[in-house]
Amino acid sequence: MIMDTEYLASAFPRRKTLQVKVRNLHVGSKHPVVVQSMTNTDTGDVSKTVAQIIELYKAGSEMVRFTVQNVRMAKAVKGIREALDDLGYDVPLIGDFHFNGHQLLREVPECAEALDKYRINPGNVGFGERHDDNFKAFIDLAKEYDKPVRIGVNWGSLDQTILTKLMEDNKKRKVPKPTHIVTDEAVVESAVQSVKKAVEYGLEPNRIIVRTKISEVPDMVTAYEILADSLEQPLHVGLTEAGIGSKGIVASSAALAMLLSKGIGDTIRVSLTPTPNTSRAEEVIVSRQILQSLGIRHFTPLVSSCPGCGRTTSIVFQEMAEELTNYLQERTPEWKEKGYKGVEEMKVAVMGCVVNGPGESKHANLGISLPGTGEDPFCIIYEDGKQVASVRASVAPAEFKKRLEAYVESHYGKVKEVTAPN
Ligand code: SF4
Repeated sequence: MIMDTEYLASAFPRRKTLQVKVRNLHVGSKHPVVVQSMTNTDTGDVSKTVAQIIELYKAGSEMVRFTVQNVRMAKAVKGIREALDDLGYDVPLIGDFHFNGHQLLREVPECAEALDKYRINPGNVGFGERHDDNFKAFIDLAKEYDKPVRIGVNWGSLDQTILTKLMEDNKKRKVPKPTHIVTDEAVVESAVQSVKKAVEYGLEPNRIIVRTKISEVPDMVTAYEILADSLEQPLHVGLTEAGIGSKGIVASSAALAMLLSKGIGDTIRVSLTPTPNTSRAEEVIVSRQILQSLGIRHFTPLVSSCPGCGRTTSIVFQEMAEELTNYLQERTPEWKEKGYKGVEEMKVAVMGCVVNGPGESKHANLGISLPGTGEDPFCIIYEDGKQVASVRASVAPAEFKKRLEAYVESHYGKVKEVTAPN
């Protein structure tokens, strides 16, 4: 079944692109920006890979990519697809190939059949004539199995023929450009040439998604801006090798916000180095939060909360902000399952004291203003800007959740059929 998800109005109009069908999704054109992610399990280990794909999918990854490095992994792909199908997960799967994709797809046809999209890196399929032969062989397989491809150019494995030529040309300039700019241009040139060749080899233009992989924010933004002007294909955007923890999240958010606010980006991935022993799904959660913060898509009601200051001498409001954030994340899937349309756009506020509490709470659908130091020990609850209750802090979380559930039912619950009067 094709999920023809409707375009969500956004403050940032998207650049016009072709639309590419990947299994049950459309990428590009008027379709919502798609969140994707990549596993880090051994693809040959079917049960571990299936478990992680499900974890990523449940977190909100609408496509999942995994590496296919050798025959052992290629042979595991069919089992991964079948296991997901048996469990009812219709998630599109992308095979990530380097060096030998054209050989693996030929040698293991069930892998070629089971995947929904093939990723090729034109920088590592050989040099000169061999490059063109291998690239053509890969494209021929995509045609044969009727699969779209992602052409992903990585500046860490850039086509050296293109880079060398652009560097030589640059040397001849009166004022040579900085090396990193020439490298950005080489990344774009490699992507553009590869798309052109793929089309020459017979792949339909609407069977190609393009990605450049650059790990510095300014270079990444420059490269995508040139690319957006040069190609009609949908773009997969994201900062590659973004890093770990807050560094990776901040750098990815900065890069994606700059591009998405210019309408560039049809599918995104946040490439975080996972903190040891944490869930791989963090990259999916961050991707969704970036889209939601920009107002491009909505997934879960968000909690606005103040940072706290000397007027809050306890951590009650911090605990409440955290508790409500987790509560909303847990409850949203069930509300959506029930068909409660628009619930993901609901706004909730948790504020520390009377200074900004009432005002901010009034801007939310539901808000609570906790008592700051020296204030009356009551928490004021607001619904649609009106004060509806005043409760003690000890019972505030329970009372607030009760009102939250009632608010969701009355505002987003399915409209009951109204029988016309006789
Ligand atoms: S709302 Fe109150 S507690 Fe929160 S930051 Fe402002 S003054 Fe401080």
